Amino acid sequence: MGVPIYQFGRLHNEKLRQEVLPRLAKIMEENSFIDGSYNASFERRFAEKTKSQHCLLVANGTDALELALEAHGVGHGDKVGIPGITFYATAEAVLNRGATPILIDVDAKTGLMDPASLLRILGDHQLKAIMPVHIYGMPAPIRALEAICKPREIVIIEDAAQAHGATLTDGTPVGGTENLTTFSFYPTKNLGAFGDAGGITMQTNEMKEKLIRLRNHGRDAAGIRFFGRNSRCDHMQAAVLDLKLDYFDAHQENRRTAAKFYIDGLKGLPLEMAGEDHLQTSSWHLFPILLKDSAEKMAIKAHLETAGIGTATFYIKSLGEEIPLMDVPGEKKTSIRFAERVICIPIHPCLEKEELELVVSTIKKFFA
Ligand SMILES: *Cc1c(COP(=O)(O)O)cnc(C)c1O
Repeated sequence: MGVPIYQFGRLHNEKLRQEVLPRLAKIMEENSFIDGSYNASFERRFAEKTKSQHCLLVANGTDALELALEAHGVGHGDKVGIPGITFYATAEAVLNRGATPILIDVDAKTGLMDPASLLRILGDHQLKAIMPVHIYGMPAPIRALEAICKPREIVIIEDAAQAHGATLTDGTPVGGTENLTTFSFYPTKNLGAFGDAGGITMQTNEMKEKLIRLRNHGRDAAGIRFFGRNSRCDHMQAAVLDLKLDYFDAHQENRRTAAKFYIDGLKGLPLEMAGEDHLQTSSWHLFPILLKDSAEKMAIKAHLETAGIGTATFYIKSLGEEIPLMDVPGEKKTSIRFAERVICIPIHPCLEKEELELVVSTIKKFFA
């Protein structure tokens, strides 16, 4: 028995196939390929789920970040604070807007943006915006960051590409704050399409109107007011997402059950579990563990793989160590150390009890 990191065969099973196909047939019959009824249905339901006023589907999670920056007028000459532990897209969005990324360091245990680092950075840099990331599904300390940013009029854009269904520690669903919050519906995310898709949640009509135009060539009923771009989400992806939303809560519960099993099973071992204090609030997109150092991380990776257990080195390097960002200013010491130590073990909604047991016992053997 092996435990791969993803199991799409179990997720996209025969039952789902039987439910998806009639939806696709309907789209073909209607020739409604782009902004169809499933887009509207999903946008309404996802807004409800995140306690936001509006959700807008866009082409992918990277575009969602870029459009959010654009909607706030972030561009050339602006500095944007991003955390050192995240996927490349967070930095790309800033660079593609012609703005300058500034690295903000992270908490040593969670990899989430550290408000203390932000405060120090603000001594040297005037930031137009920050983009905290709900990395691995854990909620970033948004309220603490807001307390710093609001009086200084610094915009916050939340990257929730990994955090569908997560909640802030005050109980607000991720996506339900006053900040634009961006989601990715890439197939491996907690809510995944059969291709690329992304979304943005927001609380105001003004933002909604702006983003509706931005994602569709700057168009509205009156014609073109400015040039936007094409970042539409097609109807087929929306149809899949709208269907998979029916299963979302049950899947999240399975992820949480798996996380609890790992937390209980790995307790007492000489490793740290980044999400340990976030059992109820994390979306459990990933289950990161922190080893002593990079050598021990690579050793446990080899040990797990010999037993047929998949691992994912998210992220093998911190963002500030990647070639295009080497000279970017900011703080990165804790991010570098975090990336050296972190590795993710399998977590998804379709794990069996015996598989979880195998992962735990194999890790225990490593330290025995
Ligand atoms: C996946 C991801 C993105 C990008 O989403 P795409 O839909 O692949 O463009 C952005 N940020 C983070 C943190 C992600 O994990």
